[in-house]
Amino acid sequence: MSLALAAALAATLAGPPVDVRVSRTGETFVAEFKLPRSAPAWGFFRSAPARVGGQPWRPASWTVLTPGVQLVHRGRYDALVGTAGGPVPRTVRVRVTPFTGDLVSDYVPALRLGARGIALFDGHFALFSVSSPSGLDRLPVDLADTAVGDSGTRVRFASPSGSLRLAGDVTGYQAGDSAGTYGLFDVPAAIEQDGMTTVVDAGLPAWLAADIRTFTPRVLARYRRQLGAADGLRPTVLASWAGAERPGISLNGGVLKGLVLMRMSGRQVLTSDRQVRSAAHRFIAHESAHFWLGQALEYDRTADSWIMEGGADLLAIRTLAAEEPEFDARAALQRSLDGCLAATRRGALAGAGERGATQAWYDCGAVLSLAAERAAGGDFGAFVGRMIAVNPDNKISADEWLLLIDRAAPGRGLARLARPLIERPQPDPTGWTALLTAANIRFRLRPDRTPELL
Ligand SMILES: [Zn+2]
Repeated sequence: MSLALAAALAATLAGPPVDVRVSRTGETFVAEFKLPRSAPAWGFFRSAPARVGGQPWRPASWTVLTPGVQLVHRGRYDALVGTAGGPVPRTVRVRVTPFTGDLVSDYVPALRLGARGIALFDGHFALFSVSSPSGLDRLPVDLADTAVGDSGTRVRFASPSGSLRLAGDVTGYQAGDSAGTYGLFDVPAAIEQDGMTTVVDAGLPAWLAADIRTFTPRVLARYRRQLGAADGLRPTVLASWAGAERPGISLNGGVLKGLVLMRMSGRQVLTSDRQVRSAAHRFIAHESAHFWLGQALEYDRTADSWIMEGGADLLAIRTLAAEEPEFDARAALQRSLDGCLAATRRGALAGAGERGATQAWYDCGAVLSLAAERAAGGDFGAFVGRMIAVNPDNKISADEWLLLIDRAAPGRGLARLARPLIERPQPDPTGWTALLTAANIRFRLRPDRTPELL
């Protein structure tokens, strides 16, 4: 996942931003919204549902304290709506009980770090206005070309003294969905080592905490060699422990400006375990890749997320192959290919976000990145470096990506073959196998005509 969701909005308004102040009282928080103009409804840019149950998470976590306004869900968006058709009061207070569950393709709203430590994501407080509540019903997932009222949101976390403020943009704001960081309340002390800061939940099993502290700087050094220095990168890793109540392992999080977030849970994590270590490494390698693919370079539109997610996945797979002798890169890529074939049978890759089939970004993006890697003579780092270098606006579109793959390997028709794989459903695998063939990626056909990588 990456923060590149903060797309520039077409209807950015001049004028003061929404001002939000978040303070803590015991186990609950109060968010006070100061709205800069009168409107009957304010939508939350980030309204992804909870992963478990697929329902909006705010109603379970937020209680509106101010009369005359209610929290509703309309269309794809959570929103503050004036009661009885009136405008939303210009000051709205909301009690927030931290929601630490996963969301579908968005950052966890709250991370628990130790007994009292909580990190809250600022993006979930970011608002836009609409001229009527019913206007929310028709809004798409990607608001890039949609006329909504957005003058930015400034989120201030009133952390008590002793809390760590992340280097980053806590006090700044931008148009769109957030400044992009977590506000930290009563978190454990940070450790600075090897040019990075780690904040590790005291509850996280010690073997894994130690592993994270040594593996992460190695990965970052590798990417710096392959992809070039990322501007002013002084990364912070926040590793949170969510308990051993369930069997197995669960691992998620994301990356924000200079920040890798990890949230782990599961009984299998308690003792040193190769599978857990490998999963943690894959996660760190993927998320760290977003400092380049996702921050140094962003996608133009949500539909182009596959460039970032698939690219980060391929970089992670190559990193693990270099770091762990037992890691099977071919099997990992085959999983991507199989997932991609299944996903594009159901619909176009470019529409995966609208269908909620975001895994296709990772799977098909990795396959397309694999073709780019071959086109670049086996050096995907060089291809990514070129993507960053030729895009002074720091944005890349599918069209630009297609231009680059043809430029890397002229005369093979890679762009012509890849374009329909992005833009149209693929009811059978022949389009994908044609791309693999043109890119000189070796495979054989299974009896069902799907390709098996060699
Ligand atoms: Zn990602």
